[in-house]
Amino acid sequence: MKVCKLPAKSKERAYKSFTDKHNKLQAGKFALVPFNKRIVFAPHCMRNVAGCAAADKGGYYVCAECGGCKINAISKLVKQLNYKALYIAKGGRTIEKIVKEENPEAVVGIACFFEGDHAFKLLKDAHMSVQFTPLTKDGCTATDTDLAEVERVLKQTN
Ligand code: SF4
Repeated sequence: MKVCKLPAKSKERAYKSFTDKHNKLQAGKFALVPFNKRIVFAPHCMRNVAGCAAADKGGYYVCAECGGCKINAISKLVKQLNYKALYIAKGGRTIEKIVKEENPEAVVGIACFFEGDHAFKLLKDAHMSVQFTPLTKDGCTATDTDLAEVERVLKQTN
């Protein structure tokens, strides 16, 4: 069984500071990337596990837009904007694998600050711009994010 540990407050502040800095540094480059060359990662902990109808693809899920959680609205917006894809990732290794396979020019990651920090470091040599949107409620299940903020990040253009 996977054990989910939350970072101490001081560590979380360091992750937040790191992700804020890298969001600002990469925002301009990100805005230049066409929507169809961007992919989005949402965390599996946001799903409503009681009734989630997403298709399990091994390392990730594909949202079936059942309306059970906020990923429903994110999935619809991603399609409306013509993004390359939305993956509900089960972990960092999946993200690394998908990025290698899909070779996007930009990535949007919705995650806790710890995972956001990790993703920026993971993708730093991949020559793509990354924008991170934090969870407003983290943990291992029933996590949440600010949909308006996700929408703002997804719609960024130059
Ligand atoms: S909206 Fe998508 S991710 Fe959320 S519970 Fe339904 S199928 Fe699962």
